[in-house]
Amino acid sequence: MKKTTQILHPNYQPPAGYAAVQAGVFKASTIIFPDTSSMRARYGDELGQQYTYGTKGTPTTFVLEEQLCALEGGRYCCLVPSGLAAIALVNLALLKAGDEVLIPNNAYGPGITLAQSELTHFGISYQLYDALNPSCLAAKINAKTKLVWLEAPGSVTMEFPELIELVRVCKSRSVLTALDNTWGAGLAFKPFELDQEKKGDGIGGVDITVHALTKYPSGGADVLMGSVITRDDGLHALIKRCHMRLGYSVGLNDVESILRSMHSLPLRYAAHDKTARALALWCQSQSQVLQVLHPAIAGSPGHAHWQSLCTTANVNGNGYAAGLFSIIFDKRFTHHQVDAFCDALQLFKLGYSWGGPISLVMPYNLRSMREGQWPEHLKEGHLVRFSIGLEDVQDLQLDLDQAFRQTLAI
Ligand SMILES: *Cc1c(COP(=O)(O)O)cnc(C)c1O
Repeated sequence: MKKTTQILHPNYQPPAGYAAVQAGVFKASTIIFPDTSSMRARYGDELGQQYTYGTKGTPTTFVLEEQLCALEGGRYCCLVPSGLAAIALVNLALLKAGDEVLIPNNAYGPGITLAQSELTHFGISYQLYDALNPSCLAAKINAKTKLVWLEAPGSVTMEFPELIELVRVCKSRSVLTALDNTWGAGLAFKPFELDQEKKGDGIGGVDITVHALTKYPSGGADVLMGSVITRDDGLHALIKRCHMRLGYSVGLNDVESILRSMHSLPLRYAAHDKTARALALWCQSQSQVLQVLHPAIAGSPGHAHWQSLCTTANVNGNGYAAGLFSIIFDKRFTHHQVDAFCDALQLFKLGYSWGGPISLVMPYNLRSMREGQWPEHLKEGHLVRFSIGLEDVQDLQLDLDQAFRQTLAI
């Protein structure tokens, strides 16, 4: 069964005679045990699906976890209060003082900040590696390295890495891999079976994935949530126990919101993708734009890697690519002009995040995000990122066009 069908048919058992389409929203902190012996038996099932207390889960959270596992090709899922909490949970579950974690230099920024602050305070060191260069990763792995983070594509600069090669490097050194798969949303490629379509050499895939459900699974720009998914019993035990100890439980009203959005996730993702590709191509034809950064657009860094991974897992022949891209404006414009461009947009709103119904724009100071260096593989200029919503493509293009002409006339 295709996973787009599978998420519509979770293994949920409704109360007798009440077979509604949507799973019931069950809320609890306290769960009442019939007697002391069953109470003790259920606590023995720490990692199973027996109910003990609200932090472990309810029938409703179990449905969402099952849907997310079906999408991702995973077996176990922990829900956490945000995408960043998912990153934190993996780090805290797997690392201890004296260990080292490696993070791509184009990773989601707050994940790097977490390593620089709390992880460092706990005696866990980190190094950044060049995500476009598997031999750079290989050179940084040492006896202390216990975890390597991966992200596809990179945050803001959108470079698609050679994931299979990065995973191969980690496996050959017996280091665990965790992928931030927010962009792929479980649709663009199969993180646990990276080499499946390529008559693989048994590399398999990553060990763990995290998602910001805040983005496409929510789709509403109104809920924060994250997930951690794995296929491995031992890893799940480590992560689930840490999850319970940290008290990272989620609110059931939020779970209900995500459950309502899950059904339309593949359709929304494809719509965001289609509009974003059309607008990215249009931007590429504008003389003010030096470079378009979108993994599915030829000439974008890592495009060939996107093509080899994401057009094999596709359903419509074009592959999947989310609704996110950045552009680099020519250096001859000033920062003020680029800010004025962002301010002149009417439909695009100035705001963080992505995956919601409304298109967003955000200028980034890329040099300061890369320790004062402009990345060598990118043309030097001013970077602006767009998150494409569900508006009509023509209206968005007209909005971009009027802002270009008003503020960046040549
Ligand atoms: C947004 C985002 C996160 C963090 O998610 P929050 O729910 O906002 O904490 C993590 N990783 C990536 C790639 C993201 O885009």
